[in-house]
Amino acid sequence: MPHEVKDKFKDECGVFGVFLKEPEQENDAARAAFYGLYALQHRGQESAGIAVSDGHKISLHKGMGLVTEVIKPETIKNLKGNIAIAHVRYSTTGESGIVNAQPMVFHYLQGMLGLAHNGNLTNTADLRKQLATYGSVFQTTTDTELVANLLARYSQDTLEDGLNKCLIDLKGAFALIIITEDKMIGIRDQMGIRPLCLGDYEGNYVLASETAALDTIGAKFIRDIKPGEIVIIDQEGLRSSQVVKSPRCAHCVFEYIYFARPDSTLDGINVYQARRELGKQLARESDIDVDLVIPVPDSGTAAALGYAEEAGLPFQDGLMKNRYVGRTFIQPTQKMRELSVRLKLNAVNKIVAGKRLVMVDDSIVRGTTSKQIVQMLREAGAKEVHMAVSSPPTSYPCYYGIDTSRREELIASKMEVEEIRQFIGADSLYYLSREGMFQALGGNSEKYCDACFSGLYPVGTES
Ligand code: 5GP
Ligand code: SF4
Ligand code: MG
Repeated sequence: MPHEVKDKFKDECGVFGVFLKEPEQENDAARAAFYGLYALQHRGQESAGIAVSDGHKISLHKGMGLVTEVIKPETIKNLKGNIAIAHVRYSTTGESGIVNAQPMVFHYLQGMLGLAHNGNLTNTADLRKQLATYGSVFQTTTDTELVANLLARYSQDTLEDGLNKCLIDLKGAFALIIITEDKMIGIRDQMGIRPLCLGDYEGNYVLASETAALDTIGAKFIRDIKPGEIVIIDQEGLRSSQVVKSPRCAHCVFEYIYFARPDSTLDGINVYQARRELGKQLARESDIDVDLVIPVPDSGTAAALGYAEEAGLPFQDGLMKNRYVGRTFIQPTQKMRELSVRLKLNAVNKIVAGKRLVMVDDSIVRGTTSKQIVQMLREAGAKEVHMAVSSPPTSYPCYYGIDTSRREELIASKMEVEEIRQFIGADSLYYLSREGMFQALGGNSEKYCDACFSGLYPVGTES
């Protein structure tokens, strides 16, 4: 697969876990994990995997590809046991490949461990050095292997002890689901950067990155895992400990803006509603005189609807998306890149011809897609094409597990808004203000991380 070379190892992931007290059938846990994972496919399309414990040992199946390409019906049949974790991952680094795919399974003094991790640690260099001093060797460059090593080292007495010590040592963003032979554990970093929630699945516990995964398997949402909390689930039930307490949390705003599914609710805020509010606020802040609002599907749809509502303008689908184009391959040549945008999106001439319109999207990353959409709309006969973006300019990289391009590739890191407008060829360009973004998300800026917009990193950058 063609890929860009990145200066940092980063990936985007989704995690899911299920603990069945009494499995009616041997493969129920693996099957639930498969459906849960399928619901989280948008969080990673490069590798997928499921690890299952039967009380004695942990079996693992993982591979490169989409969930349905990796997890076949025969796979599920072979994954016997009542505790399962699952993981999807997307990475554009040169180090992508099966060795870095998750879950990862390890043997240690007390038995076996399976880990699924979403996020990115910021003190890996220090931890790696520290562990290497004690003789640890590593097979991969992942944070997950590091966490497993640290946990094994700290769990000489009890696993609970080890988990507590780990949580104190790990810096950065992490939503972790761990299984042993007889337990499932959920951990969230002290600022709650990456999401993790708890559900009730027919009297059993499930953990997932997003509530949409609970809905998919018919589980009921119980609550979000708290920042700095560890939950341990076994035959006895659930035990929680608040190991570290930070004066503030820092939920990722980009989950609401782009990354999470609109039907998910993260830390009390529904993603669709948040996007709609972001769109409304954007309409209040922009001064564009047009006939029509069109979304850039799918990620811009809810914001465009909010925009149209607030502006009192008609909303129409002026762009159609080919639903069967899933993964966006990063194309090596400009010509191929242009083709891949046209494969994904097409303008509806009848709707846009002769109109002055504003297209609403959630974000501009490199600007190349937006530029082509503007051109496409003009070719379809639009009289004026304005663009409104439901987030502030993305000027800084993410160190917490969302794969933003290298800083010099982020168009907003090197151009002013007017230059970006010229680059994409729009008649006008509006971005949402930072204040407006927080207002749309409930008004409390202290609750969120918005470092990719502000450069204010709540837990620092990489060491
Ligand atoms: P651009 O015009 O910058 O080339 O592309 C903008 C589009 O990229 C927007 O529609 C936005 O939804 C999408 N986008 C934003 N962040 C990400 C991301 O992390 N990964 C991918 N694949 N698309 C993204
Ligand atoms: Fe989310 Fe941006 Fe913070 Fe990364 S830097 S965690 S993408 S808000
Ligand atoms: Mg999009």
